[in-house]
Amino acid sequence: MDFNLTGEQKEYLDMVRRFVGRDIIPVSMSLEKGHTFPFDIIRKAWDQGILNLSIPEAVKGYSLDLISTALIIRELAYGDSGIATSAMCNDLANAVIAMHGTEAQQQAFLSPFVERPLLASFCLTEPNAGSDNSGMTTLMQKGKNGKYLLNGSKCFITNASFASQFTVFTKVGKTSSPFIACVVVPALAVEPEAAETGSQACREIPLPCGGRIVTGKPEDKLGQRLSNTASVTFEDVVIEDDQIIGDRRLGFQYLTDVLDYARPMVAAIGVGIARRALDLTLAYTRERRQFGQRICDMPVARETLVAMWKKTELAEMALMKAAFLVQEGAPDRGVYASLAKNLAAEAALFCSTEGLHLHGGYGFMAEFEISKLLRDAQIIDIYEGVREVQNMIIGRELI
Ligand SMILES: Cc1cc2nc3c(=O)[nH]c(=O)nc-3n(C[C@H](O)[C@H](O)[C@H](O)COP(=O)(O)OP(=O)(O)OC[C@H]3O[C@@H](n4cnc5c(N)ncnc54)[C@H](O)[C@@H]3O)c2cc1C
Repeated sequence: MDFNLTGEQKEYLDMVRRFVGRDIIPVSMSLEKGHTFPFDIIRKAWDQGILNLSIPEAVKGYSLDLISTALIIRELAYGDSGIATSAMCNDLANAVIAMHGTEAQQQAFLSPFVERPLLASFCLTEPNAGSDNSGMTTLMQKGKNGKYLLNGSKCFITNASFASQFTVFTKVGKTSSPFIACVVVPALAVEPEAAETGSQACREIPLPCGGRIVTGKPEDKLGQRLSNTASVTFEDVVIEDDQIIGDRRLGFQYLTDVLDYARPMVAAIGVGIARRALDLTLAYTRERRQFGQRICDMPVARETLVAMWKKTELAEMALMKAAFLVQEGAPDRGVYASLAKNLAAEAALFCSTEGLHLHGGYGFMAEFEISKLLRDAQIIDIYEGVREVQNMIIGRELI
């Protein structure tokens, strides 16, 4: 495995770093305080070619390799991990269409994202089916006219209040069925200019083909406040055959493929948080003096800084290996995707906690970014599968 980036990858990454330094870092603290969804930043990121990295070239997308994608997500998360989560979820919702959709489905469901700065949602989690998604009760069942109707509620769905399209995992026929399907539900296009980004309202979306979608009030969260999270309810939504991705019994297989792709992306977000926490803490401890010396020159503090650096570097190496193996379609890709996610969560939590400690009382103040990072880091160990689920996957392979 070659760790050297190509000239093109370096240029792309430099452009993303400039974007993050110019358009995210200066405003992220004030935006999150105001609970304003940063659709303007999403639009700018789309303009610059930083969104929808998984869309195939056949539909005029970037079809970017996974290592570049992971590095771009890491850089976005360095600026703000909520924005990185929003961007990543677009790919999460669209990757399954790119992987398993027909050419016509790719054209119909992916090209709008190439043409306009739109958001998508990936709808899997339900109130009573989180880590154990086989317990989902969202159901697609044939109605009287012989067409499938989709009913059910999903929770904690990223981008839901602003999504123009929903990728949904659902049981078929009856809730006790061992099979799930993956369906795509396009809705009204929501564009940055038209979106009420400070809105705390529910959204009711009547669908031209029949039925409606209702999104709940945006959730008030501990961290990642610049990502939008809300519930989504599907009420008698008519599903035509061409909205069903692949085989309607193979949804679990498609889900595994998507999560193998998504876990390195979450790891990239974790590494971005860890690196930002390290950089902020280095800067602070180089300036702050106590007992006649810089904090960073005190042996115990330096040991902590070294430990933060080690965790970040290890997590990044695991991320690169996982991205490489998923890109190659290697048989052990799932284990390394889980390893990368766990190590990155550990790095993000460790660096933000120890970084805050090295800021002393100032770290506890909301105006210091390290306190935001500590809040943001918590979710890395939870979404896309909690730590224990990753260990379950690793353990199963080991034994
Ligand atoms: C900000 C945010 C954004 C999200 N975005 C999305 C999204 O876009 N789409 C989507 O579908 N979902 C999304 N989620 C949902 C997320 O993936 C789930 O919250 C997560 O998978 C955990 O499910 P749960 O919350 O139901 O926790 P539970 O499954 O109830 O788990 C609670 C705890 O129980 C323990 N536990 C669970 N299973 C095991 C086990 N097998 N062994 C040992 N201990 C265990 C763990 O300690 C775990 O933390 C999001 C969540 C949040 C908070």
